[in-house]
Amino acid sequence: MRIEVLGSSAGGGFPQWNCHCRMCQSVRDGTSRAEPRTQSSIAVSDDGDNWVVINASPDIRQQINASPRLARTEGTRGSSIRAVIVTDAQIDHTTGLLILREGLPLELYCTQEVAQELSTTYPILSMMQHWEGGYQTHTVDIESPDGWRIPAVPHLAFYPISLSSNAPPFSPYRNRPRPGDNIGLKIVDTEVGQPCFMRLGWARLSRQY
Ligand SMILES: [Zn+2]
Repeated sequence: MRIEVLGSSAGGGFPQWNCHCRMCQSVRDGTSRAEPRTQSSIAVSDDGDNWVVINASPDIRQQINASPRLARTEGTRGSSIRAVIVTDAQIDHTTGLLILREGLPLELYCTQEVAQELSTTYPILSMMQHWEGGYQTHTVDIESPDGWRIPAVPHLAFYPISLSSNAPPFSPYRNRPRPGDNIGLKIVDTEVGQPCFMRLGWARLSRQY
């Protein structure tokens, strides 16, 4: 399994545009050895040619341009991104779905709860249908022990893990989140059997794995 870390900062990035704390200011001033960081996102692949982006941050355009493996294409247009997974409906993890519109249609994987949020209170998926049909949404069952597969990366298996955390601020379920509003992922390379566990953000595991 190949993992490309596209961004590693919390929401808002580093430095955050309106933050004048010592750390953010020192990066702006060039008086710190700390480096600017974009908002959290990774991409995974089983062959280095076909990639799945996990969480589409507001910085995704910059992240793709900085990652030659993802930007690679043989024709005039295109990329190596074959699918996107979003682990919740938070703005930090889904705004990149708007930025990717030039590359639609794309496969999208998320829970039923997240798909509902992204079609109602924050209707990105409905809006994007106007770009070549938008996202082909596949909802994943968090109860399924078999996880799911993505055809473009056939040697990776994805297992959703329910996390305890709030729903997004705009959600009617903000303070009474449902299972499926937040997931982590266990990703298994089926050729070597090695798992990778990922959780972006501060959500807690609702049980031990
Ligand atoms: Zn700061």
